[in-house]
Amino acid sequence: MIFYKTDEEIELVRESCLLVCKALSRVASILKPGMTGQDIDKAAEEVIRDHKAVPAFKGYRGFPATLCVSKNEAVVHGIPSEKQVFNDGDIVSVDCGVLLNGFFGDSAYTFPVGEVSDEIMKLLKVTNTSLYKAIDAATIGKRIGDIGFAVQHYVERDYKYGVVRELVGHGIGRELHEPPEVPNFGKRGRGIKLQEGLVIAIEPMVNQGKKDVRTAPDGWTIISRDRKPSAHFEHTIAVRKNGPDILSNHEMIVEEIRKNDNLQEVGVLKEALA
Ligand code: MG
Ligand code: MG
Repeated sequence: MIFYKTDEEIELVRESCLLVCKALSRVASILKPGMTGQDIDKAAEEVIRDHKAVPAFKGYRGFPATLCVSKNEAVVHGIPSEKQVFNDGDIVSVDCGVLLNGFFGDSAYTFPVGEVSDEIMKLLKVTNTSLYKAIDAATIGKRIGDIGFAVQHYVERDYKYGVVRELVGHGIGRELHEPPEVPNFGKRGRGIKLQEGLVIAIEPMVNQGKKDVRTAPDGWTIISRDRKPSAHFEHTIAVRKNGPDILSNHEMIVEEIRKNDNLQEVGVLKEALA
């Protein structure tokens, strides 16, 4: 069953999403070559606990950490650890969720560490842009399939990258994962109609190579089968009468990236490629 949110509930989800982005901004402010997954996980957890909120992923189905930290060929659900060291040229996808005042927030960003290659930078920009194309399609009267189509069409037709099929976006609110599922592929005009108050996390996962993935031996990390790099950007949005309302905020993350000499800027809006 889909729970459509009231204005008040949407504002509570926004608060949770802003805290998620605050935690991701902290990551953006400290991330540099030599740092580990454990370092950024601790920093993010501190931000969340300081705001009397709870890291949503910690303990979720047994996941052990605050952040999902997925490096290079890892697509999502990587477990941060002290052995996970970030080197110059790596990309690090960081996914974060919080529970605050009874509502969840969820957002993700992929950071290029140090100097990454032009090809990888292009993967990040295209994935980020595909997220905004998907959000543009999230208007009243359209359908879930229009969102997935927007990502797939742009990423696969225009750039020949692989859109991951096994993992999808989702409704969010009083639960971290609510119906409906929001795939990053699909056909126009298919699936449920988008209505006022629908709150969903849209999260394209894009592989530089083929779309196929597998689970790593740790039982959590999803990696690309061909071990080519993969990117992940996620916003939580509300479908409103005036158009999609982005509840998470990547501008604050980008602001920190700009101040951090160890990170390159991916950009934040769909103009990223322009
Ligand atoms: Mg997420
Ligand atoms: Mg999500």
